[in-house]
Amino acid sequence: MKIFNTSQIQKWDAYTIKAEQITSLDLMERAATACFDWLTEHVTFHNRRICFFCGVGNNGGDGLVMARKCLEKGYAVSVYIVHFSSSQSEDFKKNLQRLIDLKATINHLVEDNSSFNLKESDLIIDAIFGTGMSRDISGFTSEIIQLINQTGKEVIAIDMPSGLSTSSLLKNDGMVIKASTTLTFQCPKLNLLLPDYFKYYGEVVLINIGLSESFSSVEPSSMFYVDANFIKSFFIKRKKFDHKGTFGHSLLIGGSFGKIGAIVLATKAAIGAGSGLTTAFIPKCGYDILQTSVPEAMVEIDNDLELAYFNYKVNPTVIGLGMGMGTSEKTIEGFYRFLKHNSTPLVIDADAINILSKKPSFLELLPPETILTPHPKELERLIGKWSNDYEKIDLMTDFTEKHNCILVNKGANTLVVYKKEKYFNSTGNPGLAKGGSGDVLTGMITGLLAQKYTALQASILGIYLHGKAADCALEKGISEESLTASDVIQHIDNAFAFFSS
Ligand code: ADP
Ligand code: ADP
Ligand code: MG
Repeated sequence: MKIFNTSQIQKWDAYTIKAEQITSLDLMERAATACFDWLTEHVTFHNRRICFFCGVGNNGGDGLVMARKCLEKGYAVSVYIVHFSSSQSEDFKKNLQRLIDLKATINHLVEDNSSFNLKESDLIIDAIFGTGMSRDISGFTSEIIQLINQTGKEVIAIDMPSGLSTSSLLKNDGMVIKASTTLTFQCPKLNLLLPDYFKYYGEVVLINIGLSESFSSVEPSSMFYVDANFIKSFFIKRKKFDHKGTFGHSLLIGGSFGKIGAIVLATKAAIGAGSGLTTAFIPKCGYDILQTSVPEAMVEIDNDLELAYFNYKVNPTVIGLGMGMGTSEKTIEGFYRFLKHNSTPLVIDADAINILSKKPSFLELLPPETILTPHPKELERLIGKWSNDYEKIDLMTDFTEKHNCILVNKGANTLVVYKKEKYFNSTGNPGLAKGGSGDVLTGMITGLLAQKYTALQASILGIYLHGKAADCALEKGISEESLTASDVIQHIDNAFAFFSS
């Protein structure tokens, strides 16, 4: 799914209104009804008052429609209009009149009269600003936002938490509604995917408001939300006469004394992701462990306790390396000799990233479109510190342009950056925050790259299937706390099932 900015979303509304021959008022009704339906399924109304804080633009109009629907159902409702401007949108005015006709009590919050009293069980709906928020909030509106935040009540934001724009840096921290849930319309927004703003948007729910699908295929964007449909657009199904040679040969290089587990996990994951043939190149001390725990893999050995010579004999299609590898002088020297002679596509993780950070001149030796999979700390060592997510994305973009590589920044909503293009993952859960999960991801991306996927496709498919496998494990009853990297490997099959059947 493409991620759009404010002006593109406004264009999308206008496109839908024209294509479907409906009015903007109908579209507002449709969007608010979809939010209301979500509320009725997910919120307890019993003994509870729903307090709508509505602006005077279209987001406020959405809130008024929802308030009307709640009143019609007999729920207790309070409406507060935040008069941040003297000009009101036409559809806001029409929906305000419909509420007045229903004899609803409406409270007007203006400059010198902006106080309100909420009761213990009240639920707040924030419909002050939506995607139309164009400048940082100040004065009276910011006071209301602060008062709402101080109540400590559950807040559900409509489209965007008020005060947060769709896709620009927030300058005035603290002037934003802190929502526990954000019901955002149709497509994700950049700011609802960034870790910096999580404290404002909370859980994000995509509400399908029925905007014309054809707009999305014609309107360009360099930002994508990686969901099942996106994966389907390039997933390759296996064919009857395919054989192991069709699916490439993955070589996993890594491990050191006490860290053989990392390379075991990566090797298993490459096989689980469909690699045709798989070899592990490891220090001698890991030989028995690997042969016993991964009988499907071939094993070649290096020095006794750590990698030093990188003198494997196989001729792989792709190499994934760095997991549990260590950064001893011997390993660094061997890695340098390896890079100098290697032209096989690479997936680089963990200690191999740390070596590249220490020895930036090695970066020039990477083959084109090398995939690097750093966690946030490894990324910082590689590209330097950032002071906000926008700066981080800029640094990542510059790095991938300079070194013609792909960066996979791991975490919730893992972000893949390839030059101007950005891909945010939709799968995964905090159960993955545990040693070993990243080794599994690198193995999976390596195994996918060995098949017929491009480096960018293998990265995107890898992050999606890895997160999906973790989600499937939870669906089977495993808890986030107890989820292990091995569980993730065991559920790769469930993740594939969405596409391969
Ligand atoms: P819409 O543009 O769909 O009505 P909103 O309801 O989110 O979207 O915004 C309402 C209006 O408020 C917009 O038309 C915009 O011009 C105006 N606006 C945007 N940001 C601010 C702000 N910080 N302070 C006051 N008004 C604003
Ligand atoms: P290790 O090196 O121990 O295997 P990493 O830190 O390299 O672990 O990788 C952790 C993996 O877990 C990454 O794929 C990352 O995306 C995932 N992960 C970590 N925390 C979260 C989270 N809160 N939500 C979703 N995925 C997460
Ligand atoms: Mg790691």
